[in-house]
Amino acid sequence: MAASRTIPFFNYPALAAPYEDEILAAIKDVMKRGAYILQKDLSEFEKRAREFLGVKHFLGVADGTNALIICLHAAKIRPGDEVIVPSHTYVASAAAIHLVGAKPVLVECGPDHLVDVASIEKSITKKTKALMPVHLNGRTCDMDSISSLAAQHGLSIVEDAAQGFGSRYKGTSAGAFGLAGTYSFYPAKVLGCFGDGGGIATNNDEAAETLTYLRDHGRNSKGEFVAWGTNCRLDNLQAAILNIKIQYLPREIARRREIALAYHSALKGLDDLALPPPPEADDIHFDTFQNYELESGKRDALRAHLESAGIKTLIQWGGKAVHQLEPLGFENSLPATDRLFDRCFMLPMNPSLSDEDVEYITSEIKRFYAR
Ligand SMILES: *Cc1c(COP(=O)(O)O)cnc(C)c1O
Repeated sequence: MAASRTIPFFNYPALAAPYEDEILAAIKDVMKRGAYILQKDLSEFEKRAREFLGVKHFLGVADGTNALIICLHAAKIRPGDEVIVPSHTYVASAAAIHLVGAKPVLVECGPDHLVDVASIEKSITKKTKALMPVHLNGRTCDMDSISSLAAQHGLSIVEDAAQGFGSRYKGTSAGAFGLAGTYSFYPAKVLGCFGDGGGIATNNDEAAETLTYLRDHGRNSKGEFVAWGTNCRLDNLQAAILNIKIQYLPREIARRREIALAYHSALKGLDDLALPPPPEADDIHFDTFQNYELESGKRDALRAHLESAGIKTLIQWGGKAVHQLEPLGFENSLPATDRLFDRCFMLPMNPSLSDEDVEYITSEIKRFYAR
């Protein structure tokens, strides 16, 4: 029987649709001005992002991975140093640590899928220089515990908030806790541009100064060459697009939270599923639901059923945590993360889903469990 609907995991063509005219006008305007590198569209977007996040400094950069690399440089992470990062993250988090010459030390995640603080504590050695919490799925890590652990051991915090733009913990934005926090504007992220893009937030003046010259070939904000740097700039054209999209972001996040609530209400009675907490579960987390990542004891069969009903689901990172990527040679034993990767997957979650789509997805899941 043919599926009555097809629901893609992420609807890339819908990314621009609601704002197409406004964005096309902005692109034309950039072309007319010939304004391609470090122009006013970038500084306008940076100002909006700063205000949106409530941080002192915000820099547009090339992408979320290079954002991490220059932040680790700014945190003075050197060869031989160790940086602690959860294994349930994109390989990019660990790669950034490796690429500055340091050692990524992979740790467990907890039942909330976020880095497990007890596992961080066990992994701290004399060589540990920094912690890299990852605000996964649009949900913030336990930043009180992580910040006090860092203070106790004299460690820097560089937050990977690639999935956390707009998420908050006790009112403070993901990315605003540590020395610096990084974001990705990859198209499928909560705030996505039309290609690669990224950002960095910091409340530290010295780090902002360092990141400014690292981003632009060693040139400071006055254009003077001061030290080694690289090219890690956000294209002005992408900034012009983001400058429009960020104005609609609160509405898009509200829609994601509405969808999360609908998923939760429809699925909470199914004992085999472990769902993320619904939007108003506590007043500590403001969750943007970058992803709706849940667990099922019958995951593979459930995914196959949904696939046959035309519903595309995904296991994050292509199905493997970082320590499970054999070519990287990690020898960690991380049983909680291994177990999670036998169970976790993601339902479609983006503002282009209609109420009917959500209803169709939840009714197919219920149908699977009723068999
Ligand atoms: C997307 C992502 C990155 C990488 O960002 P890019 O902009 O694609 O380089 C890093 N970490 C996490 C957790 C991500 O989800």
